[in-house]
Amino acid sequence: MKTEIFKITDTGRQRDEIARAAAYLKGGEPVAFPTETVYGLGANALDGDAVKKIFEAKGRPQDNPLIVHITEKEEIYPLVKEVTDGAKRLMDAFWPGPITIILPKSDIIPGEVSAGLTTVAVRCPSHPVARAFIKACGVPVAAPSANISGFPSPTEFQYVFDDMNGRIPAIIDGGSCDFGIESTVISLAEKTPVLFRPGAVTVEQLQEVLGVEVKVDRAVLNPLQAGKKAPSPGMKYKHYAPKAEISIVRGSFADFADYAASHTNEADAFLCFEGEEKSLSKPCVTMGSCGDPLSQARRLFDALRELDEIGARRVFSRDPSKKGVGLGVCNRLYRAAAFRFLGSPSSIVLGITGGTGSGKSTVCECLKKLGAEIIDADKIARSIVLPGSPVLKSLAESFGGDILLPDGTLDRKALAGKAFSSEENTRLLNSLTHPEIIKECNEKIAEKRSKCSFIVVDAPLLFVSGLDKLCDVTARVDAPAEMRLERIMKRDSLTRQDAEKRISSQKPEATLAEKADYTIENTGTPDTLAAKCTGLFNKITARG
Ligand code: ADP
Repeated sequence: MKTEIFKITDTGRQRDEIARAAAYLKGGEPVAFPTETVYGLGANALDGDAVKKIFEAKGRPQDNPLIVHITEKEEIYPLVKEVTDGAKRLMDAFWPGPITIILPKSDIIPGEVSAGLTTVAVRCPSHPVARAFIKACGVPVAAPSANISGFPSPTEFQYVFDDMNGRIPAIIDGGSCDFGIESTVISLAEKTPVLFRPGAVTVEQLQEVLGVEVKVDRAVLNPLQAGKKAPSPGMKYKHYAPKAEISIVRGSFADFADYAASHTNEADAFLCFEGEEKSLSKPCVTMGSCGDPLSQARRLFDALRELDEIGARRVFSRDPSKKGVGLGVCNRLYRAAAFRFLGSPSSIVLGITGGTGSGKSTVCECLKKLGAEIIDADKIARSIVLPGSPVLKSLAESFGGDILLPDGTLDRKALAGKAFSSEENTRLLNSLTHPEIIKECNEKIAEKRSKCSFIVVDAPLLFVSGLDKLCDVTARVDAPAEMRLERIMKRDSLTRQDAEKRISSQKPEATLAEKADYTIENTGTPDTLAAKCTGLFNKITARG
């Protein structure tokens, strides 16, 4: 079969070409087209025979449901039994955009699209070429990713061409896809919303818009159980595999570098974060930068293809963070690796912050009872300024010798008096102490990873110091000022005035703490607090 290519750079001026591509689809043929996530292979969603041709082209068994693409919100109504309030909220917040909503299907959806299920997955893409094409088709377009089954989803025209040339009559070339991994898929078909596939729209964003908790399906980070039918597109075992055999190396970069050093086979390659390849001196492919899941999402599928291109037969990969969009990255990568893991299970690092008297130490005590290892950042801060230490020396050079007591130890009051006298001095203090605190804390995390799966960094200045960057997830403990005041007056036998002074000296973190992933309101009894800690522990470990 000859495949016609339509290169579209201007949807306004190239209406004729879009109409010619659409004519193939209207004639019952499959056509590949770009979206903001990945390229799709579309067919008329209301024509079961046309949809069958998608499966033939992909070489894929017909047991995986497809997403139906539309261009206007209203077009969802004939496709489903009912558009729930939650669905309306998600549509208003995120459509057009990279989120797919599953609802009970109407009778016009053929079994080929729903894979025999009673539900249908609907999405309204934002990509201008996708929108112009679907509009020209005049029908809802069912489309999985435009690749041969079992290979990574294509994010570039060239990959679609490599897989589909000669197999389908038309491909629309719209350049590279922005986001790089497929849409978020959420089911609203049951009472509780369930995330089936993580993507650009995160669990946190979904919960905020829906106002209720979203359950993350077990299969998001685990293989689909044997014999269980995929309830959503993209859930099937080993759906995103390149030719190479990938293993995820859990743990720190140091653990990963050890693996790299001990694996000398020529066909081995390493999938790491940008910059890490410099210290590995092995064949490496990078998948975005370490703390930036969006860049990882954009790179992941290309990186998997590049591993094939360099002829890697075995690949060792870093284990990305599962935070935010990172959950989507891990979901794809773990499938590509067929859930092969090496090394000890990666520990979760929780950073806890909170103003003095909020109950931060009490929360850490609770978590310790649940098995967490606690790293006390205050203790580290004190340890780096012991007599003779380089940090103490540079503090004395910058703030004057009178910050030292006659025995050579730090006079904390004198340093505080100087360092907090102006913003500039506070910045100077931070620049001399924070990098060393971060380094020490990082070493402590690495040390504890081998023996513990849940590590807590207790840091009153978690965000100001930058220690939050070492954490997978963060929480702040909060309580009203008066409550905190009374608690620290009682705990430390302080006068009200001294307690007030201590609380007001912590302002910078208070504003930054809004960034925390979780907030623990400590306004009830100690028992209520303990129950909240258990809840948080369970939530975080279940996600990991
Ligand atoms: P932080 O570490 O944030 O300064 P702490 O955990 O030491 O705060 O708590 C301050 C004081 O308040 C402690 O004496 C603690 O036992 C007490 N406290 C904490 N939470 C509660 C609570 N919910 N009810 C009563 N007292 C509490």
